[in-house]
Amino acid sequence: MRDFSNDHRWLSINTATVRRQRGADWPLPDILDACAERGIRAVSPWRDQVAVAGLRATADCVRRHAMELSGYCRGGMFTYADEVSRRAIRDDNRRALDEACTLGAACLVLVVGGLPGALGGRAKHKDIAGARAQVVDGIAELLEDARPRGMPLAIEPLHPMYAADRACINTLEQALDVCDALDPARSGALGVAVDVYHVWWDPKLLALIERAGRARLLAFHVCDWLTPTTDLLEDRGMMGDGVIDIRRIRAAMEAQGFAGYSEVEIFSARNWWQRDGGAVLDTCIERHRHCV
Ligand code: ZN
Repeated sequence: MRDFSNDHRWLSINTATVRRQRGADWPLPDILDACAERGIRAVSPWRDQVAVAGLRATADCVRRHAMELSGYCRGGMFTYADEVSRRAIRDDNRRALDEACTLGAACLVLVVGGLPGALGGRAKHKDIAGARAQVVDGIAELLEDARPRGMPLAIEPLHPMYAADRACINTLEQALDVCDALDPARSGALGVAVDVYHVWWDPKLLALIERAGRARLLAFHVCDWLTPTTDLLEDRGMMGDGVIDIRRIRAAMEAQGFAGYSEVEIFSARNWWQRDGGAVLDTCIERHRHCV
């Protein structure tokens, strides 16, 4: 297992972690500058941040800092209730794929979607099995475009509390079943993003990481699970402040040959988003060395 205690060579910052500090958006170029100043070599930006900063300008900024993208957030949201939506979703995912390629991301992260309409507060039906079938078809279709372009797709299973509104793939087992169905050759074109926040509780987790193997382990996201958790979405903890045995999960990933970045992804409306962004990055570096 790699020793992270002496440097932060393998730290990546998911830019949502510092997207909005003390009530003001922190522009993506400024986030990248602040990361570069601290010797952080990788980031994973969100599409809305890139849209504001400009795709070309962001790609130039990444290149200027000689940074890597541990992933690009995100594609997916494959579920729909009518044909017009299906096409709009397909086209939007193709744009996400284009952007990921332009930015040279290691993978395009997929949050697959839940029941159509649920995110807006009104689910159009209760057929979660049907939603899951749409997800498989959507990933299959996007994979046809992604494979020849060499952009791996990383399915991110989300904690079951998000099954209705954000993602109806909720365990690593489900995600791996989709991978095996669509990419039986384990080509590297389709795999998973293992986010400790979503999967830490799963009694099968370590066995599933072994099942995934190196070919399927495309990304590793870290934060911590706080007790109590006061918000379903925006109360993630800094590594070391909660109950997840992050090091044990990383050890299982690395035992399979995973050698990529540990990407810090923290949505924290009342705590970390209320602090100075630079100070948050400094804390990420310190916790990466001692708690990841
Ligand atoms: Zn994640």
